[in-house]
Amino acid sequence: MQHGRYSTYVNHKCRCVDCRAAWTAYSAERAAERRRLAAAGEIEVPHGTDGGYRNYGCRCDDCRRAHNQMRRAGKRRALIREIRQARRASQ
Ligand SMILES: [Zn+2]
Ligand SMILES: [Zn+2]
Repeated sequence: MQHGRYSTYVNHKCRCVDCRAAWTAYSAERAAERRRLAAAGEIEVPHGTDGGYRNYGCRCDDCRRAHNQMRRAGKRRALIREIRQARRASQ
């Protein structure tokens, strides 16, 4: 198999530095293209979702709200994890 290709990353699940770099570049390209199409109104943005905010670069009120909620939920989860670890450490 050929390294340094995103298809090797996907099809062969190779995680070497070259394949990972190719995958990252490919993902960034896809994301940029999706944002461009969304901005041009050529594809529909799933408004009111974190994905709309992150994947489509939408900053409408609904998407911003969903994104903020998601971030808050993530922080709460991290906090719970910290408390649990602290408890376990003290036992
Ligand atoms: Zn590889
Ligand atoms: Zn939106």
